[in-house]
Amino acid sequence: MILVSACLAGLDSKYNGKSNYNEYIERLVREGKAIMVCPEQMGGLPTPRDSCEIVCGVGGDVLEGKSKIIDSKGQNQTEKFLKGAEETLKVGRLYNIKKAILKSKSPSCGVGKIYDGTFSGKLTEGNGVTAELLVRNGFEVITEEEFSAK
Ligand code: SF4
Repeated sequence: MILVSACLAGLDSKYNGKSNYNEYIERLVREGKAIMVCPEQMGGLPTPRDSCEIVCGVGGDVLEGKSKIIDSKGQNQTEKFLKGAEETLKVGRLYNIKKAILKSKSPSCGVGKIYDGTFSGKLTEGNGVTAELLVRNGFEVITEEEFSAK
C-alpha cells in the first residue's frame, strides 16, 4: 500500500478548488493499492484557500520551528500545515505504509523542490512539511513525476 496526494488521484483538494489529476495515480487508488491524503485539508485548511509557501526555509525548518508558512494574504498558516503533516503520518502508520507518491513543489507534499516563499513561481531545493516528516519517519517519498517516469 502507498500514500498518495489526493489531488493527484483527481480530488479537487488543491488550493484553487481543482485537482492535479494523474491517470497513473488514479489507477493505483482504483486498484486498491493506494490511500489518498491531503495534508492541507486534514490540517484544517478550507478548499478553495489562499495559496501558501514556506518563507525563509524548507519543510525541515518548519518542523524545527525555524521557519513559517504564510498564505498569499500574509496570514500565518504554520500550525495547520504541521497538523496536516502529523495526521498524514498517522494514516501512514495506521495502514503500515512505508512509501508515498506526493505532488511536486507543494509546501506540504513537495519532494526535492518547492516554491521558494516569494510567491513568484521560483523554486528552491527542499521538501514540503509533510514530505519531510514522512522522510524523517522512514518513508520512501517520491513525486508523481518520478513515478510516471518509471
Ligand atoms: S496538500 Fe498535497 S494533496 Fe493536498 S492539494 Fe496540496 S499537493 Fe495536493
